[in-house]
Amino acid sequence: MQTVQIPWRENGELFVAWRDGRTGYPWIDAIMIQLRKWGWMHHLARHSVACFLTRGDLYIHWEQGRDVFERLLIDSDWAINNGNWLWLSCSSFFYQYHRIYSPISFGKKYDPNGDYIRHFIPVLKDMPKEYIYEPWTAPLSVQEKARCIVGKDY
Ligand SMILES: Cc1cc2nc3c(=O)[nH]c(=O)nc-3n(C[C@H](O)[C@H](O)[C@H](O)COP(=O)(O)OP(=O)(O)OC[C@H]3O[C@@H](n4cnc5c(N)ncnc54)[C@H](O)[C@@H]3O)c2cc1C
Repeated sequence: MQTVQIPWRENGELFVAWRDGRTGYPWIDAIMIQLRKWGWMHHLARHSVACFLTRGDLYIHWEQGRDVFERLLIDSDWAINNGNWLWLSCSSFFYQYHRIYSPISFGKKYDPNGDYIRHFIPVLKDMPKEYIYEPWTAPLSVQEKARCIVGKDY
């Protein structure tokens, strides 16, 4: 086991986008919206957003994510929360630093139709399943039909 020194980035804007479910990745945003609304989300959903914030995409310090979870989780527990964030950010206890949860393909494996996203992000409810995990790839005509223009409505 080793402790990895990660070059954390300071980025308030990206952190707030993550915290408020406005990253533009529907899978990540739906999870953070569920956290805010329900105070709970599935263990693997916690994996996804913790990885996205830390070593996966944003490289923002795990303590910032830990604090958000601590405040919003109904099952918030100091030791379990800290331990899991250390684990997921690969700061300690976990050595597969390069095993990243894709914000697109990981959720798709469990929910190919994107029903979870449709539930928590209603503006995407009519987006065809081919595009729901990456709506920026939908042709404009498809976005118009779904009444969801990327960059305007979502
Ligand atoms: C970044 C991150 C932060 C987390 N923060 C918390 C927290 O603050 N409080 C908390 O209780 N859990 C936390 N967890 C662990 C886990 O997500 C929850 O215990 C689980 O989602 C509870 O749902 P369940 O009862 O359906 O669990 P199940 O998957 O059915 O598991 C059954 C029981 O096992 C225990 N358990 C399962 N996985 C873990 C785990 N990784 N660590 C510790 N206990 C576990 C829980 O008591 C759970 O109720 C966190 C996980 C991650 C990845």
